[in-house]
Amino acid sequence: MGTVVDAVKQEANGTLPNGKKVQVVFVLGGPGSGKGTQCANIVEHFGFSHLSAGDLLRAEIKSGSENGEMIQNMIKEGKIVPSEVTIKLLQQAMMDIDNEKFLIDGFPRNEENRAAFEKVTGIIPEFVLFFDCSEEEMERRIMNRNQGREDDNIDTIRKRFKVFVESSVPVVEYYESRGKVRKIDAGKPVEEVFEAVKTVFSSIHAKVA
Ligand code: UDP
Ligand code: MG
Repeated sequence: MGTVVDAVKQEANGTLPNGKKVQVVFVLGGPGSGKGTQCANIVEHFGFSHLSAGDLLRAEIKSGSENGEMIQNMIKEGKIVPSEVTIKLLQQAMMDIDNEKFLIDGFPRNEENRAAFEKVTGIIPEFVLFFDCSEEEMERRIMNRNQGREDDNIDTIRKRFKVFVESSVPVVEYYESRGKVRKIDAGKPVEEVFEAVKTVFSSIHAKVA
């Protein structure tokens, strides 16, 4: 049940520990659905900053942090890193980057991620952009991309698909029930998908402006 503090938090809708206010869009979709590619396009056209939770975790491994080995092992297995770690990285990045508009890509990945982020930051997403793509197509894309990622092999991909269906789809359903999901058919070529993405963001901007 909501206390007064909760109410204030909700109303503030995203105030970071340093008092900075932010506007957040979650970008969700299976591995290989095109989140990263389309986020780069959105950044260019709509003035958001892009935060990939996976990229932040990979940077944390490289930085030699004490959590590095644990994170690396979880990524190799396609498992979800503890919320606390990911949330800290996202929060820090939002404070460090001189922008108020953020695309958070690949997070929240499970119900616990979602609830913990909301509790810790008080941030409710403006909306959730969901890239809908068949497993067949996602698998084809991942096997064709070569980013030297340790988790882009057939064994780990299958595990990531399983985690996506079991843990991440329920998060999309949660937001769907709140009318927050903007679903995109992501099985098409990049330019066509971006046309659909543009329609979503243009309507938001028209509303805000
Ligand atoms: N990951 C995680 N929590 C997150 C985001 C990523 O634990 O919030 C881990 C997880 O093991 C995942 C891997 O990082 O399988 C790669 O995530 P990324 O989003 O980079 O992959 P994508 O879905 O874009 O292919
Ligand atoms: Mg990605």
